[in-house]
Amino acid sequence: MLLSWLRARRRRKLLAEPFPLRWEAFLAKNVGHYRRLAPAEQAKLRDVARVLIAEKTWEGARGLYVTEEMKVTIAADAALLLLGADHDYYARVDSVVVYPGKFRTPQRDDDWEDDELSDFEADGQAVYRGPVILSWEDVIAEAPDPDGGYNVVVHEFAHQLDFLDNLVNGTPPLGDRGLEARWRYVMTVAFEDHRRALRRGDETFFTDHAAENETEFFADASEAFFCRPADLEGENPEVYRLLAAYYRVEPLRWFPG
Ligand SMILES: [Zn+2]
Repeated sequence: MLLSWLRARRRRKLLAEPFPLRWEAFLAKNVGHYRRLAPAEQAKLRDVARVLIAEKTWEGARGLYVTEEMKVTIAADAALLLLGADHDYYARVDSVVVYPGKFRTPQRDDDWEDDELSDFEADGQAVYRGPVILSWEDVIAEAPDPDGGYNVVVHEFAHQLDFLDNLVNGTPPLGDRGLEARWRYVMTVAFEDHRRALRRGDETFFTDHAAENETEFFADASEAFFCRPADLEGENPEVYRLLAAYYRVEPLRWFPG
């Protein structure tokens, strides 16, 4: 109780300060989504990003010094996922670890036939009840271009939303019976369709990675929702509408035409 009261007071104080101008410059330069948001969404994004910057531990790996620019860029993209949702600032994530470039991840145990991941250099990783780990080189290659279609920060923070209910199953806590039922149906069908298409060797909209398990599918679909909304809507309108109901934003509006 006391802790949450103190935290709320600290956040109010933080957000009463004006947003630093040099941070605004980082948003303009590095966060491609930012200029497309409605003014109220931009204000919300700035607030969420500031809390994430203040409350998370930011750690550089392999000798990297994590600059303000890195923090603002990463926190702003992570804030995209929280613009419309009820949230507690990724409460399970204590720290964000930033590598200068790609890094090796420990072997992952999953049931997908060819597990080549252990030999793979990752650009990001979300650790269950642990940090988000990112390659800055990849973050800065993707974040400035909202039309690029990919965003590793969005992908990894979507995993952290999935993990919030202590289940790694591609379903974040939804808090709504109707949405839960719809989620199970729409996501299961879309995931199975995707796996079948890959097995047949068809060209697929979702990535190969998304076929590994439900949490990868949710993270990949979230990335598409925020970065390729029109394509996702065209490919699978049910998944688009479901994610719009969950995230409570309409990225189609940010990508006219
Ligand atoms: Zn993933």
